[in-house]
Amino acid sequence: MTRSAMYRRFHAHPGPWDIVVVGGGSTGVGVAIDGASRGYDVLLLEQSDFGKGTSSRSTKLVHGGVRYLEQGNLSLVMEALKERGLLLQNAPHLVRNLGFVVPNYDWWEAPFYGIGLKLYNLLAGKYGFGASRILSKDETLERLPTINTEGLRGGVIYYDGQFDDSRLLINLVATACEQGATLLNYAQVTELAKDDDGFVSGVTFRDAETGEEFTAGARVVVNATGPFTDGLRRKADPSVQPMIAPSQGIHLVFDGSFLASDSAIMVPHTADGRVMFAIPWHGHTLVGTTDTPIAEPVLEPVAQEQEVEFILQTASLYLAKKPARGDVLSVFAGIRPLVRSGDAASTAALSRDHTIRIENSGMITICGGKWTTYRHMAEDCVNQAATLARLAERPCGTEHLNIHGFHPSSAKFGALAVYGSDAPSVRGLMDGDPSLAAPLHAALPYTGAEVVWAVRHELARTVEDVLARRTRALFLNAKAAVEMSAAVAKLMAAESGHGRDWEDRQLEAFRATAANFMLR
Ligand SMILES: Cc1cc2nc3c(=O)[nH]c(=O)nc-3n(C[C@H](O)[C@H](O)[C@H](O)COP(=O)(O)OP(=O)(O)OC[C@H]3O[C@@H](n4cnc5c(N)ncnc54)[C@H](O)[C@@H]3O)c2cc1C
Repeated sequence: MTRSAMYRRFHAHPGPWDIVVVGGGSTGVGVAIDGASRGYDVLLLEQSDFGKGTSSRSTKLVHGGVRYLEQGNLSLVMEALKERGLLLQNAPHLVRNLGFVVPNYDWWEAPFYGIGLKLYNLLAGKYGFGASRILSKDETLERLPTINTEGLRGGVIYYDGQFDDSRLLINLVATACEQGATLLNYAQVTELAKDDDGFVSGVTFRDAETGEEFTAGARVVVNATGPFTDGLRRKADPSVQPMIAPSQGIHLVFDGSFLASDSAIMVPHTADGRVMFAIPWHGHTLVGTTDTPIAEPVLEPVAQEQEVEFILQTASLYLAKKPARGDVLSVFAGIRPLVRSGDAASTAALSRDHTIRIENSGMITICGGKWTTYRHMAEDCVNQAATLARLAERPCGTEHLNIHGFHPSSAKFGALAVYGSDAPSVRGLMDGDPSLAAPLHAALPYTGAEVVWAVRHELARTVEDVLARRTRALFLNAKAAVEMSAAVAKLMAAESGHGRDWEDRQLEAFRATAANFMLR
């Protein structure tokens, strides 16, 4: 999986593509896998890096959505719980079963959440992750040794999935590539071409590295641009009404001692009526999230001061060790591509969670939903795309398609577990050159071998790609990531034959991005 191999595929392709997908987040890459595995010719174009948008900035949960349960939307919960089970089945190296404890401070909470969470598990049917149960105070403390004990009565434990979002996305890109799709990062779609009848018939895109422009014909174009959905829709038809109401959510990351547990905390109702999680993730504690409407989507959203304060205050209510600003190792913001309410009447909604709209221009827009349901969303979308583009009808085959890196017991690879079946090859780089085996920073486990692997096999083009999405350094500890960046730039430059000026430009750009992951 190299950029030059992708361009070779692109240039060798005759005539229009069956499907051109715009957007390389979980939605777009899911569509690319589904389309390619049905035997369609698929081209996917991502303006920045794969996962640069919302898909690397989630709460890292593969879940049915306990919140939907409260809203009584049982079919939606069942659908997501099935997808949760399929993801664990198809990518066991990246998805794991995690215990979530709802701490109880009021007498009514144990029976109330106890019954609700029993139903949650029941709805999972054969895809269940484990039975929920009510915990005594002692059992709660055993699970959550750092929980605030003042007024604590006990808890309820249930089980859900946890994953590494951008690692899964990179493995999905590899899967799509193995299925025959052509995928390019740093390729922004700048224009849509139309045929004589005014229907979208292709795209123009610009290679951000060379500035070169290319065109690609398409039987159907899929708009999977997440928060940027309306921007591409307006390129097809300037008169369209916006369908996205962007909303920002942030997370704070602390060191592992704040949770000191293999279980997560789930707070069903914060002061603003939201759900909040504190989760163990890669040896750290991840706390979030918020829901703040924003006017316009941006590629690098920044946490707002009141969001940070809200999470610090809420976390302080539940943790014995109160986190302060100085404890924040990283802060990251993501934008939900929520579909505006009241829009459903004019929408071909196949599910109340995600939306697929066939535009008057003939372009298909897919948005909403969640990471967990990306496969199901893609199946719906490709069904629609195949009909619209009059492609030969072929059934979806992704329910039982292993995702690149599939390994049933990758925990045995230790710090390399997220690489699954690729882990022995990453280890092989270390064996071949012991200088690549040492961690690049004392606070994080990442090694030079992972940098080299990312450049050679995972389409990493920039220092940020490596530190934010191939490894998770920037999301775990922004200061450490900056301190590692010079070593990463050097390794990347040596791999790719870049000079010192490339390294300098990369470091300057990375420091600017990393500043958004640090509290001022
Ligand atoms: C704070 C937060 C927490 C969440 N937590 C969870 C969770 O725990 N579990 C879960 O299941 N879901 C979660 N979600 C939802 C989930 O993350 C999103 O539904 C999903 O990532 C959306 O993916 P996407 O591909 O639609 O959008 P994105 O990931 O944003 O991808 C869209 C891509 O399109 C690209 N693009 C835009 N314009 C162009 C163009 N002109 N040319 C080429 N490319 C373009 C962008 O660069 C971007 O990479 C969360 C969301 C948020 C905001």
